[in-house]
Amino acid sequence: MIRLSHRARDVKPSPTLEVSALAKQMTKAGIEVINFGVGEPDFNTPEIIKAAAKKAIDDNFTRYTPSAGIPELKQAIVNKFKRDNGLDYKPENILVSPGAKASLINVLMAVCDPRDEVIIPSPYWVSYTSQVWLCDAHPVFIETSAENSFKITAEQLEKTLMDLSNPKVLILNSPNNPTGAVYTREELAAIGEVCLKNEILILSDEIYERLVYDGAQHISIASLSEELKEITIVVNGVSKAFAMTGWRLGYMAGAKHIIQKAAEIQSHTTSCVNSITQKACIVALEEEDGSVERMRQEFSRRREFMVEGLSAIEGVKCLKPEGAFYIMADVSSYLTENSLGINTSQELCKYLLQNYRVALVAGIAFGVEGYVRFSYANSVDNIRKGIELFAAGLQSLRQ
Ligand code: PMP
Ligand code: GLU
Repeated sequence: MIRLSHRARDVKPSPTLEVSALAKQMTKAGIEVINFGVGEPDFNTPEIIKAAAKKAIDDNFTRYTPSAGIPELKQAIVNKFKRDNGLDYKPENILVSPGAKASLINVLMAVCDPRDEVIIPSPYWVSYTSQVWLCDAHPVFIETSAENSFKITAEQLEKTLMDLSNPKVLILNSPNNPTGAVYTREELAAIGEVCLKNEILILSDEIYERLVYDGAQHISIASLSEELKEITIVVNGVSKAFAMTGWRLGYMAGAKHIIQKAAEIQSHTTSCVNSITQKACIVALEEEDGSVERMRQEFSRRREFMVEGLSAIEGVKCLKPEGAFYIMADVSSYLTENSLGINTSQELCKYLLQNYRVALVAGIAFGVEGYVRFSYANSVDNIRKGIELFAAGLQSLRQ
């Protein structure tokens, strides 16, 4: 048998995509599952965006495009950064990739050498660690907790750096998946200062930028100063804000020498983003019809509903998240002593899916035990039903 590479041996499938696939499979087999696992909007892509894609097909815009993206789209992205974030970029600072996931690994491939250290606040989005390992670099975690609203501090970062030999990158994700935490301007400024002092590249994943609630404001760390802009790569995309997960388009902006190398890497891996998607995304970024705000308001309503429902369950604790569409619920009190011997978040999620038909992602997938992640990209009706089932499942552990 052909021996696999060390990368292939070590990699595990994305747990979020895995849970989602399993839930969809069960639904297809006629089993009703409430899916809180997947992190994707349940809305349809807005009509004006779909119309632009149909037009691109009819216009036969169906060939390879420049690898880094078509000029009109890069210009729309330049305009977006100026308009929404006060950031001045040129088209040469922009790279369009097949999803923000691809943007992130393109950067890591462009900057990481073996054994370079990439700092990741924990809990973290599942793919960061796998991507770092795939680049032969090493993830280093900074733990956060509910007590500090799941945010790292500049002091923690400074302390972590003292123990490292090759610190290279800090991955910041605000609004955060899975915790919903949103960093303030002051918090970002303090973290940025430490990165500047230590020459750390900030990989700022801002894909949930548009999904903030209760007056919370999204700030891009790159916008705080020219110096910070120089050491930051801002990653964003259309999957979450425009309900376009399957279209596959992410983009990023940053220092030309990094962006250019990332583009060269992309030219050998995926060539370019689907030409039709690129045309559609110009409309997404330039011609808003109010659907993004309508979706945000609906997410906000669901968030209220879910926080209320979960907080009413005895022994379950959760914070009210300020952004994204996830809630990390602390279920540790159910994992210590129960008649079924369920002691881990993974075992709990398996049990709840098999016996109560509720799909959740185990906290351990995001680096923390004792938690499960809910995605509230689901209807209020399903949220109501799902929380009842979840509560019944937890109660069954105490009988
Ligand atoms: N970053 C975060 C934090 C995410 O949750 C996701 C969701 N898949 C991505 C990046 C990647 O998004 P996409 O590849 O769909 O643009
Ligand atoms: N980001 C989403 C999630 O965390 C989608 C799945 C994925 O890309 O991992 O559920």
